[in-house]
Amino acid sequence: MCGIAAYYCRKNRDATQNVMLMLYAQQHRGQESCGIAAANGHKIRIHKAMGYVKEAFPQTILEELSSNAAIGHVRYPTRGEAAIENTQPYVIETLSGPIYAVASNGDIVNYEEIADELRVKGVHFASRNDGELLGRFIVYHHERKDMSIVDAIHLLMRRIKGAYSAVFLTHNTLYAFRDRGGFRPMLVGNIGEDIAVASESCALDILRPDSMREVAPGEVVVVTPHQVVYQHELDTKLLPENAKPVQPHHCIFELIYFARPDSYQFNEYVYEVRHKIGSRLASYDDDIGDVVVPVPDSANFIAMGYAMAKKIPFHLGLIRNHYVGRTFIRPDQYTRDESVRQKFNPLKDFFSNKRVILVDDSIVRGTTIRKLVRMVKGAGAREVHLRIGSPPVKHSCYYGIDTPNPNELIANNMEIEQIREYIGADSLKYLRIEDLRECVKTADNFCYACFNGNYPFPKLSTSSAIKKELPEEETS
Ligand code: SF4
Repeated sequence: MCGIAAYYCRKNRDATQNVMLMLYAQQHRGQESCGIAAANGHKIRIHKAMGYVKEAFPQTILEELSSNAAIGHVRYPTRGEAAIENTQPYVIETLSGPIYAVASNGDIVNYEEIADELRVKGVHFASRNDGELLGRFIVYHHERKDMSIVDAIHLLMRRIKGAYSAVFLTHNTLYAFRDRGGFRPMLVGNIGEDIAVASESCALDILRPDSMREVAPGEVVVVTPHQVVYQHELDTKLLPENAKPVQPHHCIFELIYFARPDSYQFNEYVYEVRHKIGSRLASYDDDIGDVVVPVPDSANFIAMGYAMAKKIPFHLGLIRNHYVGRTFIRPDQYTRDESVRQKFNPLKDFFSNKRVILVDDSIVRGTTIRKLVRMVKGAGAREVHLRIGSPPVKHSCYYGIDTPNPNELIANNMEIEQIREYIGADSLKYLRIEDLRECVKTADNFCYACFNGNYPFPKLSTSSAIKKELPEEETS
């Protein structure tokens, strides 16, 4: 998934500090590692570390990196292993002197094709990360083909397929751009005379912007010491005269699960979409429950929508320990039930002798929800009716979300009744795809490939399909 942030100051040197704050607000988009590259008008400096933003950027580091323009990244790995060399931003040094930095969110579908083309021309890669590919593509065409950076980015949009919302920094200019389909979110905000960019609006909110808007798919935002320029590729002479915008394919899973509920993206308030999903799910049922309980946190608003539509109590009956990370869950040393117990604890009063509507946002492998259903029954529930705020996940994602191999997706291997039986719920219902479409304003502008297999771009070739498998299914 990953999150990006950028800040450009007109008058002071608070950019690094503000980027750190925005990354901190987007920690949910990636916890593996993080980094900030900072420009002071002459050169670019960088600091990267494994782990969380707060630990990676103590005040001493922030002061050392103080700058008037900075970009940052929190990483959630999809391509390339968990290592500092795969941590973004990337800094690209050239023989002629200039230094550039780049950070991106998403996955590139034709990575191998483009990387091979550049390698043949003598370009070397230090990592296998998409951000570096974007950066090296831009720098190659700018430095060796004498293109402006904006033209190089627009060329990139025509050549590089897949998902990327990215920021690119020179010693004194910031560029922010989004792929033509706008898979991943990215917004730009005005804060006085300053400009901020982030993956999610919740990150901009903490800086109290005067205004903000989404960077349009196919658009480049250029921030120089003197001006801000918004250049959509359709406004350039690079495309045929009658060229039309590409149909957007925003990731619907951002709204279901990944984004923070207080974010606004793809022209939608995330919490509102989740609420609508919940009331759609409620319309599938008669009076079957006494209490609605979400699997926290991403299913909270879905469950709330269900409970309000049905007028039955909503309770946070499962308490989540937010400090349990994946690395702490070690199935090799603990029983499977114990690993879930580290993360969730049931409040028995809400379950005892109740018919429980348990709500989750999605089911991937089915292993975690199975344990949770067992836990809820162990806490005294008379019946557990599982309601899922998305259609069955049957296909892997190739655009920046780390879903496992299709063979491991439970809905790819079992019918719904078999899944119910495996999970041990008394009933199981998923949101229908046609109802999911009804929950957003512009249904045709979304990607639903993990549900229906209709990929906006062809799948990855095997050579480039380097995916890190999750050690344990993550829910919420
Ligand atoms: S395949 Fe699914 S997770 Fe991936 S971009 Fe499309 S909707 Fe999002």
